[in-house]
Amino acid sequence: MNTVDFRRHLHSHPELSFEEHSTAAFISEQLDALGIEHRPIAGTGILARIEGRRGNLKRCVVLRADIDALPLQELTGVEWASQCDGVMHGCGHDCHAAILYGVLKRLQLERDFEGTVLGLFQPAEERGFAGARKVLEEDPFKEYDVAAVIGEHVDADLEVGELGFCPGKFMASADELHFVVKSVTAAGRMAKSPIVAAADLIMRLNAFNSDVCKVSVYRTVAEGIADHVAEECRVEAMMRTYDEKLRGRIKDMIAHATEEVEYKYDVEVATDIHHGYPCVENDTQLTYEAMLLADSHGYVVRDLERIGGEEDFGCYSQLYPSLYYRLGVSRAAGRKHTATFLPDERALAVGEEFMYQLSLSILNK
Ligand SMILES: [Zn+2]
Ligand SMILES: [Zn+2]
Repeated sequence: MNTVDFRRHLHSHPELSFEEHSTAAFISEQLDALGIEHRPIAGTGILARIEGRRGNLKRCVVLRADIDALPLQELTGVEWASQCDGVMHGCGHDCHAAILYGVLKRLQLERDFEGTVLGLFQPAEERGFAGARKVLEEDPFKEYDVAAVIGEHVDADLEVGELGFCPGKFMASADELHFVVKSVTAAGRMAKSPIVAAADLIMRLNAFNSDVCKVSVYRTVAEGIADHVAEECRVEAMMRTYDEKLRGRIKDMIAHATEEVEYKYDVEVATDIHHGYPCVENDTQLTYEAMLLADSHGYVVRDLERIGGEEDFGCYSQLYPSLYYRLGVSRAAGRKHTATFLPDERALAVGEEFMYQLSLSILNK
């Protein structure tokens, strides 16, 4: 099967996070047809393995593609559009999986490289399901010396033939902070207001904002009436950082700030943190090498600014030398996570060739 047909098959049969059963079955079938060894991972993922003909087989490169789709009703009108009501590959993960398949196919045909290639079809990247975390819980690379984990994402801000890179800190961590500020004194006319305490807490949260940390309070709820102060005030905020150490430190400082507010206003503050994805940090050396390689193959290399979005690829980049780059799919593709997102399929060949060359250059180093 060719890469375009592979992608179109996945596109017309999208599945949501951790429900990628027929996706995994299809991938498994196609790998079987090529004689590529593989096994299930993280429930609905697939881990493929190709050993080179030479070198240290314990040294490996992990190529990662996410495979899940989104709860969207597709409106692209293409002939290979989603056949599943209310589910759509609206983030291009069908492209990522197809490119990985194409790369593995080429590597398997030649096997003319050193070490081992692991092809990771990872489930559940979207909506905080953190398939990457589930993959790593199985510690699948423990027998290996991981030279690099490589991943990509389609990008509609880049044209076909353009590749985007950002050495070092690239994508932010994302944590949701939920607070309930409750008055501990008697309710009624003269009660101390948890709203005032919450306002103080909000100002303290706001003070964490800097170049490397963003805390945005996006919701507050307190429902009092005249002469009867609300008994509680809810505050919800999103916290993003570009540094894991800082992320931990700020969480400690937030705990300290809530204690101070409790003491000062005679309130109780219940804190619930939804720990989201970690920062995506690109290995600088690996990134520069990839940029040179892309340039030498005639691709247009774009320097990217770090971005505020999150991605569970960060789980790998915290543990292994990693590179997460962007693949141009044309501005005409429209916005991802919309019902009309339509990447230019010519990007598949670019993505495949580049990931193939990059794998060889790392393995044969
Ligand atoms: Zn997405
Ligand atoms: Zn995505």
